[in-house]
Amino acid sequence: MIDLHLHLDGSIDPADMFRMAQMSGVRLPAEREEEIKEKLVVSPGCRNLGEYLEKFDLPLQVLQTGESMEFAVYRLLERLHAQGLCRAEIRFAPQLHTEKGLTQKEAVQAAIQGLVRGTEDFGISAGLILCCMRGAQNQAQNLETVAVAESFLGQGVCALDLAGNEAAWPTGDFADLFLQAGQRGIPAVIHAGEAAGPESVRKALELGAVRIGHGIHAAQDQELVGILKDKKICLEMCYSSNLQTRTVDSPEEYPLKAFLERELSVTVNTDNMTVSDTNLKKEYLLLQGQYALSPLQLKQLAFNAADAAFVTKEERVTLKKQIERKFFSWLDCSDAL
Ligand SMILES: [Zn+2]
Repeated sequence: MIDLHLHLDGSIDPADMFRMAQMSGVRLPAEREEEIKEKLVVSPGCRNLGEYLEKFDLPLQVLQTGESMEFAVYRLLERLHAQGLCRAEIRFAPQLHTEKGLTQKEAVQAAIQGLVRGTEDFGISAGLILCCMRGAQNQAQNLETVAVAESFLGQGVCALDLAGNEAAWPTGDFADLFLQAGQRGIPAVIHAGEAAGPESVRKALELGAVRIGHGIHAAQDQELVGILKDKKICLEMCYSSNLQTRTVDSPEEYPLKAFLERELSVTVNTDNMTVSDTNLKKEYLLLQGQYALSPLQLKQLAFNAADAAFVTKEERVTLKKQIERKFFSWLDCSDAL
């Protein structure tokens, strides 16, 4: 009932694309919703993270105005609430929303407006995570993202992330950014161990990450697995997305159950509801079916998310009560008990 790893641009409802295209003055390459959906959802033949990331081109085109940023966040919260979620941490990279003159700060302010309206209207708890982007030519933009994150920390923004193609741009190249973020008290979450190996996860920890996006390849390094456990580092695992980007070759190689059995703080997330064509409940049910998870293990996954969420002590207690009370009815599997 909590999604900690959810990208805004990868989770736009295809039906909303038309209105957002209008808001952004963009002409979409198709007129029917079904055709647009085809352009947003990853194909079964996806070979790697690079191909997966191509699916973000079109949604990013319609996320270039304050109006569409606010609308997108608001609509996402509306849908997540309707799906029964009680908390969502939505992430995006402000620097990817500046093509039509928005500054990073304006993009974040607009998203915060959508967040404030959405949390008020739907009673869902939510926060924003700002992503720096892996790349060679964007150091100034990344530094600006750190500054913007600092100025809105605790006012809608809850953490800083590093996203983009991990195979092409190693985590260590971005040490300066996260050193600065650490000095400014901004919590760091970093995508690592998705398209690169355990060394990338180690590096993310070195840079102060308190949660790791994916972390799948940590499984190849048992000493690292021990460190993740000892430091209580949350792994934001995204099963469908991880299979689509070929992070592992088959479900049998996916380390979720092994991590759970080692008592790591594993969580279930969607990554991109639209690109991966999924939702949180679907992810839990897929995992339950694939790995024969016990009711206790399923609920543990949800509690882990409450433990790792960027919320106050009081809010964490509330989230846990909601999970305790509603998790199995939400999952429609109370008969499994
Ligand atoms: Zn991600």
